[in-house]
Amino acid sequence: MASRSTAKSGSGKKTSSSTAASAIPHGSQPFLQSVNHYFDKAAQHLPHSKGLIEQIRVCNSVYQMQFPVRINGEIQVIQAYRAEHSHHKLPCKGGIRYADSVDQQEVEALAALMTYKCAVVDVPFGGGKGGIKINPKNYTVDELERITRRYTVELIKKNFIGPEVDVPAPDYGTGPREMAWIADTYQTFEKDNINALACTTGKPVGQGGVRGRTAATGRGLFFSVREAVNDSALMKKLGMTTGFADKRVVVQGFGNVGYHAAKFLQEGGATVIGIIEYDGAVVNPKGIDVEALVAHRNATGSITKFPGGKTIKDAASVLELDCEILVPAALESQIYKENAPRIKAKLIAEGANGPITSHAEEILLKKGVFVMPDMYVNAGGVVVSYFEWLKNISHVRFGRMDKRFEEGSNTRMIDTIEKMTGKSLTMSERSIIARGADEEDIVNSGLEDTMIGAYHAIMDTLRSSKKINDMRTAAFVNSVNKIAESYLQLGIFP
Ligand code: NAD
Repeated sequence: MASRSTAKSGSGKKTSSSTAASAIPHGSQPFLQSVNHYFDKAAQHLPHSKGLIEQIRVCNSVYQMQFPVRINGEIQVIQAYRAEHSHHKLPCKGGIRYADSVDQQEVEALAALMTYKCAVVDVPFGGGKGGIKINPKNYTVDELERITRRYTVELIKKNFIGPEVDVPAPDYGTGPREMAWIADTYQTFEKDNINALACTTGKPVGQGGVRGRTAATGRGLFFSVREAVNDSALMKKLGMTTGFADKRVVVQGFGNVGYHAAKFLQEGGATVIGIIEYDGAVVNPKGIDVEALVAHRNATGSITKFPGGKTIKDAASVLELDCEILVPAALESQIYKENAPRIKAKLIAEGANGPITSHAEEILLKKGVFVMPDMYVNAGGVVVSYFEWLKNISHVRFGRMDKRFEEGSNTRMIDTIEKMTGKSLTMSERSIIARGADEEDIVNSGLEDTMIGAYHAIMDTLRSSKKINDMRTAAFVNSVNKIAESYLQLGIFP
């Protein structure tokens, strides 16, 4: 029998599929309830009519499906979903999650967050989300491929996928491999559609993906936190100095988002003192070498027993470690009413979707914790997915048309300056200055610009209102206002 599945880690290397963490341990508050609570809190600050607010809040369509797949010679009936929260802009956009916890309220909550997220970072899509209720650890790669392809066929049958209607991406438990299977299946059915590859994003580069997508969410998180730690007014309010030098970071979830977030924060100068996984945590007050931890997990299948830190069996307790920045980047509802009072971080950057329940957030805000909301902090993935979609429908790689031209212009400029000053640059100085931007440079620069712009737009709303006291509400206000604007232009809402 084929061995059970492995999943790709953020580093792109094979790891044991820890994506399988089963139930969310403290889902006493349903995720959708939390998201709607945040929405309602922000709606109080908006001037729009009740009907318009309700139209923005509700999920426009949900497709719930059951389909048979042969597993180990037996038919297994698989349960799956795709939710399209908002059609105010098309296509809908949002990941596909493979987890035991998947249910209808979860995909609806995640789809709603996608709508608000796209609007807050000016990505012209509606929100969507899909999920298959499986633990990928329990399936072989062949079985996962069969499940993924069958799920895609179900979506095609109901017009819940396509470059113009609904474009999935990776999420918890899925990655470029699954996106390649989906795109391949879609192309088989839509063989005359020249844009068929744009039916998913997060694909491998060789299959129409864009350079920089895999790291995009963690990189975007880094840009958002960097803006916050360089915001002198905010740092003063939190009793910290600006910059990363004195920032101790704890990251929960060492998958795509958590690994890249930890890596970029460490490269930026912060000290990563704790990394939490579902089967244990690693702690080192002097700093954990993030790349060495990846290598250790690749070799052993777990982050535990890492020689560069102390293993803590009660992993969740590490969320409560004394630190400046906490990055929950695993799953929703990890910080809840019961553990919120014990959280010591001064700033929390939500890498995961919905890691803090609304009950917990009230407690954190009262304690003076600054919460940077998921809809902004982890938007890097959808920003770069948007770039991938643009690349697929324009059929040209970013930088292909202008890289050499840019290099030629830069070289002529250097030649002129050298002639005028009589001084010469070394060859390596010349090549650094003359170099034209390639695809990854353009993608990362677009991402950086988007994250910086959105930070200041949200903080402007927060600082200019006497009634709004937290960044999440400010982000919701900005986002819902933009969505309302597009509905108001239809002329049907008062
Ligand atoms: P992933 O599957 O690559 O990684 C998740 C990691 O969390 C895994 O290593 C898993 O073992 C670990 N984990 C699970 N339960 C845990 C627990 N209780 N404690 C500690 N660790 C635990 O998934 P991902 O793509 O990194 O997604 C993580 C979160 O980020 C999800 O909420 C997802 O919706 C959100 N998100 C992902 C992206 C993206 O581009 N991948 C974009 C935006 C938001």
